[in-house]
Amino acid sequence: MVISFGSINMDLVVLCDRLPVEGETLVATGWLVNPGGKGANQAVQSSRMGAQTVMVGRVGEDSFGQQALQGLGRYGVEVRGVAVDAAAPTGVACILVEPGGANRIVVVPGANGEVGRSEVATLQSLVAPGAVVMMQCEVPFSAVREAARIAHAEGATVLLDPSPWQSVALGPHVFEDIDYLTPNEREAQGLSGTSDLQDAARRLADMGARTVIVKRGADGVVLFHAGRFAVVPAFVVTAVDTTAAGDSFQGAFAASLDQGLGEDEAVMRAVAAGALTVTRRGAQQSMPDGAEVARFLGAQSGDVLSVSGSKTMNQKGEEQT
Ligand code: ADP
Repeated sequence: MVISFGSINMDLVVLCDRLPVEGETLVATGWLVNPGGKGANQAVQSSRMGAQTVMVGRVGEDSFGQQALQGLGRYGVEVRGVAVDAAAPTGVACILVEPGGANRIVVVPGANGEVGRSEVATLQSLVAPGAVVMMQCEVPFSAVREAARIAHAEGATVLLDPSPWQSVALGPHVFEDIDYLTPNEREAQGLSGTSDLQDAARRLADMGARTVIVKRGADGVVLFHAGRFAVVPAFVVTAVDTTAAGDSFQGAFAASLDQGLGEDEAVMRAVAAGALTVTRRGAQQSMPDGAEVARFLGAQSGDVLSVSGSKTMNQKGEEQT
């Protein structure tokens, strides 16, 4: 079982020719309401890969909350771990998008900001040895940390996407319950305080993460584990919208581990899922299912299909054969 402990949002997307200046009213060129939130997005990708997936989080007692839950249900995500808050509204992200795709986002946490003890208790009632628990940082970090502690103690594999990284309460052992920490490049740099990626990964491992996977968009991922680096290139695709690529990576990786695949194969499936997601517009609706990922990987040449066959580097960042 995969458990996604995290945020559930509605994304309110306004398409406009340009951004309004102070005091100005503009007429939009379009408007979309999409289910989102990193927790929900990752749960959808995990379920689409065929893993039994349960969402733990909170929505408001409003129509956005109902829509979000119905959307998760349509993708096969179980919502029995989602609480309905009588006071706080469902979280929303207000996204202004200009013609070139540049965007400005304001997030209203709403019910996501209320996630705490009761969701941790829900997680505790669901988690069992062998489960995979994935988390992100759009709910209070104190709850994330406690959920990680409990999941780890129960024998689950724990994944943390530290996004947004500013929510992380940094400390010497902050990632001690995390098996896989999966920041993107900017998050790795922000958390570690260094722009050198290999230094950054090493510092994050020093804070307790067993394996650090840095997501680098069209450059693939860098893995750091037990003092060694491995570089896994991305698949070459035509990207039209990179929204939710990281969520797709995490959901597919978690599902693959849950399905008993080894780490290398799980990374390959996650990199493939991320690549397919960027070829389509949107978040949850752009994510591939397990059959599409398998077809995509089957169509690739053998030499890109192994992590161990990729470049490895020593701790100084020198390439080794
Ligand atoms: P995030 O959304 O968290 O910033 P990334 O943009 O790095 O994460 O995307 C996650 C993964 O998806 C990447 O590591 C890569 O494997 C895949 N991916 C993202 N963008 C592209 C792209 N333009 N081409 C191919 N693969 C991509």
